[in-house]
Amino acid sequence: MPRNGSDEAVLLYAFTCGYITLPTSYFIGGEDGKTKVPACVFLIDHPKGLALFDTGFSDRFVGLEKGLGKIVDMPKEHPIADRLRALEVDPDRIDWIINSHLHLDHAGGNHMLPNATIIVQDSEWQFGFTGEDGAYATEDFDTGQPVKRINGEHDLFGDGSVILFPTAGHTPGHQSARITTATGEAVLAGDCCNFRRSLDEMRMPDQVYHADHYRGSLEKLSQLRRAGAKIFYGHDPDFWAIVPQAKKIDLKAL
Ligand SMILES: [Zn+2]
Repeated sequence: MPRNGSDEAVLLYAFTCGYITLPTSYFIGGEDGKTKVPACVFLIDHPKGLALFDTGFSDRFVGLEKGLGKIVDMPKEHPIADRLRALEVDPDRIDWIINSHLHLDHAGGNHMLPNATIIVQDSEWQFGFTGEDGAYATEDFDTGQPVKRINGEHDLFGDGSVILFPTAGHTPGHQSARITTATGEAVLAGDCCNFRRSLDEMRMPDQVYHADHYRGSLEKLSQLRRAGAKIFYGHDPDFWAIVPQAKKIDLKAL
């Protein structure tokens, strides 16, 4: 494990856990063409426990060529359990899975983390079972671990260092996380803000669950960015290319 007696409160690591190719307008409205985007996963190493923010695609996509396999690219070393082992972290040691939301590119690795408690907004959990949105796969997110359903803001470790907060609009119960590290504040946006340009230009995808809520979430992120937080955009291939993989993130270097 990378933590070696360090007194830094929280360490943050990033991993790519698969890719998906979709029309660019799914991410930022009014644009032509398609974009291959990463599924972004973060390990939050806190003295009181290990948490993941999202878990990427399921390993069921490795080698799959039919159906969704045509648009999902899941290299064999990408499943979150393999990513963690490569960093000498036993997947059994993960205490918490924070799901920004339960779409299959965000909750697909949940089943590989048997001792974790899933922490999700209550409205998101309920919506996942309605069948109204084909991007939810119950086999990915309803995998038997305890589920802590929250309503609104939540301080995960009770010390203000990992704060979950609602950023609805992409889905009914989408949430993001503010992480205080030794090198500054990070905001793990998830899909309330897909690209850096989404925030620079305040642009939404063509399809959203609730446009007013989406706009409000972008506003929230914009305020945090103005106050100095480093935003980790949900699916931005250009931004993601400068984020070091599986290494302690130094926010000042980004
Ligand atoms: Zn997504």
